[in-house]
Amino acid sequence: MRNRYAETIDQQTTELLRKLNLLGIPVDVEGVAQKLGAEVVYGDLEDDMSGFLLREKGVVTIAVNKLHHPNRRRFTIAHECGHLYLHADQGDRLWVDKSYSTIFYRDSNSSSGDKLAEIQANQFAAGLLMPEVLLKEHLTQELSDVDIFRLALRCQVSEQAMTLRLLSLGMLATA
Ligand SMILES: [Zn+2]
Repeated sequence: MRNRYAETIDQQTTELLRKLNLLGIPVDVEGVAQKLGAEVVYGDLEDDMSGFLLREKGVVTIAVNKLHHPNRRRFTIAHECGHLYLHADQGDRLWVDKSYSTIFYRDSNSSSGDKLAEIQANQFAAGLLMPEVLLKEHLTQELSDVDIFRLALRCQVSEQAMTLRLLSLGMLATA
């Protein structure tokens, strides 16, 4: 079930998109990053690395693996925006994001705080790319597989990401 923190993040992402005047799908996620003060660069990263966020002396860089699928790159940028927006209190640091696990580069024994931060960044990414308010507009009837496919296309996310998102919002009955 949804926890209160996930709901708070959904409110934050919706407010942020409204404030930046970017609340519309597909969400201009690179525009969000830029308006948050980050420069987005596409680089040759190791295959298992999705990207990273580097905040150093007032300069913020989001690096994305240019070889990954466009939908995945969008999710990576959104995830790094989550670190940028939610974890600003941590100041200058590097967040490295690998495919299936995420690590804090300078500390291989990442703390439970860092693991929580990764979960929060993923929730932020889902909220940013698939805004709850916009998904609700499509909730006229029970969603079929084709509807999910169309929604994923419109949001430019993977079907898997959309399915998980709808499940977590309680908009999809579990099979
Ligand atoms: Zn991360």
